Amino acid sequence: MEQPKTSAPCGLSAATCYAKYRGKCKEMVEEACRQDPTLTPVRGHYICWSWGKQAHWWAVKPDGTIVDPTVGQFPKPHIGDYIPFDDVIECSHCGKRVAEEHATFYGSYAFCSGSCNIRFVGL
Ligand SMILES: [Zn+2]
Repeated sequence: MEQPKTSAPCGLSAATCYAKYRGKCKEMVEEACRQDPTLTPVRGHYICWSWGKQAHWWAVKPDGTIVDPTVGQFPKPHIGDYIPFDDVIECSHCGKRVAEEHATFYGSYAFCSGSCNIRFVGL
């Protein structure tokens, strides 16, 4: 019998999962919470074995079980830790820690200032 290429819950290839779920964490978690009001949305980082710290959204059940509708975007195996945000972000350019409300965001990156953002992006 031929081995399946992926064990992703969606049954799609890793590349397809990536395209399908990347950047959709928030809206898919919000949708999951709408369908199951016992879920609580959580924002933070998924610590991927391959990609490192990834900005991410997931949900938790009342018993603490993590429900992650978009884990398929990350390389398998899905053994990463989930670290909720503490409202302080680390600048992707200089590493300075700033309150999230003062941070600048670019895609899944966060910066302490617009100038760090511009330097990081290379403009
Ligand atoms: Zn910075």
